[in-house]
Amino acid sequence: MLKSHAPATGAFLGEVPVSSPEDVQRAVARARRAQEAWGLLPVAERAERVLRFRNALIDRAEEMVDVISRECGKPKPDALLHEVVPVADLTTYYAKRAERILAPQEIELHLLKHKRAYVHYSPRGVVGVISPWNFPFTLSMGDAIAALIAGNAVVLKPSEVTPLVSQKSKEIWDATGLPEDLFQVVHGYGGTGAALIDAGVNKIVFTGGVATGKRVAAMCGERLIPCTLELGGKAPLIACADADVERTARAIVFGGFVNSGQVCVSVERVYAHEAIHDRLLERVVGLVAELRQGDPDTGTVDVGAITFPKQLEIAEAHVRDALGKGAELRAGGKRREGQGMFFEPTILAKCDHRMTVMTQEIFGPLVGFMKVASEEEAIAHANDSHLGLNAYVFTKDRDRGRRIAERVVAGSVVVNDVLVNHAAPETPFGGVKQSGLGRVHGEQALRDFCDVRHVMYDRFASMEREPIWFPYSPELLKWALKGAKAIFGGGSLASKIGELF
Ligand code: NAD
Repeated sequence: MLKSHAPATGAFLGEVPVSSPEDVQRAVARARRAQEAWGLLPVAERAERVLRFRNALIDRAEEMVDVISRECGKPKPDALLHEVVPVADLTTYYAKRAERILAPQEIELHLLKHKRAYVHYSPRGVVGVISPWNFPFTLSMGDAIAALIAGNAVVLKPSEVTPLVSQKSKEIWDATGLPEDLFQVVHGYGGTGAALIDAGVNKIVFTGGVATGKRVAAMCGERLIPCTLELGGKAPLIACADADVERTARAIVFGGFVNSGQVCVSVERVYAHEAIHDRLLERVVGLVAELRQGDPDTGTVDVGAITFPKQLEIAEAHVRDALGKGAELRAGGKRREGQGMFFEPTILAKCDHRMTVMTQEIFGPLVGFMKVASEEEAIAHANDSHLGLNAYVFTKDRDRGRRIAERVVAGSVVVNDVLVNHAAPETPFGGVKQSGLGRVHGEQALRDFCDVRHVMYDRFASMEREPIWFPYSPELLKWALKGAKAIFGGGSLASKIGELF
């Protein structure tokens, strides 16, 4: 059995049975049978039915928020605003737009003018979703909903750290009257995830760490299954000389400490121009002192618990490493004594790239500050990373913000705000470098849940035989050569004819 405990108190919350590889195979087989009828429904009908899940979710929002908050140790506003609401919004977006996004697309042919072509989007079959513990609801159901609306069945393997959230998702799904086998949940550790990849699914969407992502990609590669990988982040925040100090400071504190910094797009490193560095750092330290940290069940808190015990040791190791190499501790720096797993919101100043706090993913409430002399220096440091998920730029000059954004190597760059891009389901989300492969959200992600079927047919009545079919003749070669020179050659006639194509 998988036992779930509240990170804020240690209280036992519940347990679920671990699925064996045979259980996983049976789940995929059932999902495949359910998908056959589902995939044949018109897109609009599927969208309409999936909206029932959204309606039931919103009706039962308090229940869902309670489970997420308890099992992750995160404040209830986090659970509502960063998990339940984004799933409701993503469902609405895809339900409204899917018919258009998945409509057959005509392709204009430039040479074969006697033919017509279009692409038809056909569901892949069964999609396996493997998800992490930091946003156990939105990072599992966001992908599941998109895959379902695209016509697939889904088997979800949630994190072993937060199984009860997905139990609740399944309970709400089943209560909507939608086919139970169309969306299933299997539980367990990494082995269950591997069993899912091995069970004949047609696509994997994986969200988790870089090392696991590479193992998942290797398994998918062996089986030639497409996979989308949403992996780690090391988001830099560039604070330009003209940045609004108050807004930038509040953004750093929110972006660095919401969900105890256990966010793949958390602000983890700040490159502040020397003209504002000291003022910005002072204001951030002041705001951190005002943060309320504690058990979300006991009242209003801003920062909750650390969900996964290993993150406490990781945070401690980063602090030790940074202080040993000359960083200055300006706030926090240690785990909280007593009940539950809490790490104090921590600010480290005088950091540099010899320190792991500036180069390795933290996934905890730590933010490192570094003073820079120019925009160029800030961009160079921001790009000095093996990761590239999110990045942030703060400036009062919109053009400068966009100019810098286009030079920072990341999947998304947000100007004068933090984290917000994940809440826009219309926009592609994902990483470059070792932050992942492929994108979730947006039109392309919905199409990626489908096989692309190209259909070609004759524009006019078909002839008995195409001129280029057998038997070949000397005339064919002569005319083909003339035609190629006329269309693709460099002469003026060629360029005129070429323009027609
Ligand atoms: P993890 O890689 O340890 O686990 C993720 C999931 O993979 C879990 O369900 C786990 O059981 C499963 N798993 C483990 N080994 C497996 C294997 N060999 N085959 C198949 N599945 C396997 O990650 P985590 O600790 O749960 O989550 C934290 C990580 O997730 C961080 O690195 C964070 O940056 C990343 N993350 C990325 C995004 C994003 O959108 N890019 C979002 C959230 C979290």
